[in-house]
Amino acid sequence: MLAAHGSAPHSSDPVMFPHRYSSREDIESSAFIAASFAFGNVPQIKAFLERLFAALGPSPHAALAGPRPVFPGRLSGLGHRFISPEGVRLFLGCLRAMYLEHGSLESLYLRGTKGPGAGTRERLARFLGEFRGAWGPSLPRQRSFLFPDPLKGSACKRHNLFLRWMARGDDGVDFGIWPAFPARDLIVPVDTHMARIGRWLGMTRRRTADWKMAEEITAAFRDVCPEDPVRFDFALTRIGILKECTVKQRGECDLCALARVCSRNRE
Ligand code: SF4
Repeated sequence: MLAAHGSAPHSSDPVMFPHRYSSREDIESSAFIAASFAFGNVPQIKAFLERLFAALGPSPHAALAGPRPVFPGRLSGLGHRFISPEGVRLFLGCLRAMYLEHGSLESLYLRGTKGPGAGTRERLARFLGEFRGAWGPSLPRQRSFLFPDPLKGSACKRHNLFLRWMARGDDGVDFGIWPAFPARDLIVPVDTHMARIGRWLGMTRRRTADWKMAEEITAAFRDVCPEDPVRFDFALTRIGILKECTVKQRGECDLCALARVCSRNRE
């Protein structure tokens, strides 16, 4: 169901898409789709998601989980970067399978909390493993990209982003519609911007943006705020996403709130 306000204020972030909906089911399903395809530059991501959500109609959840899925005939060759139209169709088919079997993605995730391994890494691995199992043997590279395995080292940035949206309380960005998932268990979604700023702030020395780096940055944030370690990443990544300070061009350090703790400012 579409929200009355129609759009979110976060036009630089794919979270704008789930903010268009008001029902819990539509927020969850649209958030998973938007986070999963949050790769590429911002205009590419927005253009693809606009077309995809237009194809799904006013209720993504109903389109996916209804008695007859409405999406296959409406996608008309829609792909995103190296994800082919067949890959998009398979992705939506997996999402439909999860809804039909588990009722909600929250139920699927909570089911994974009962297995061996207590950490977010193991739980997320079980969650994404269910999708990989539903995908089947075709297009294995697209399958592994859309449903990566944190146990193999992937930072799972897009899926930690999705979990952040679901678990953190409603603050105008995140939704907090999975109350059984404590925000203290979240892992920072590490993209190139967060990786760079994490190094500048001395939170990690790793070069590769992998799961280990995500854990190191999260641990540093946890020292500041144990109950909500990922509360900082949306604001910090805006510095890079909005090109206020990039690898090519340093921002105005004198005006930057990070100036006193940023090692790049001292170079
Ligand atoms: S202090 Fe300077 S180099 Fe560091 S993030 Fe801010 S603008 Fe960029």
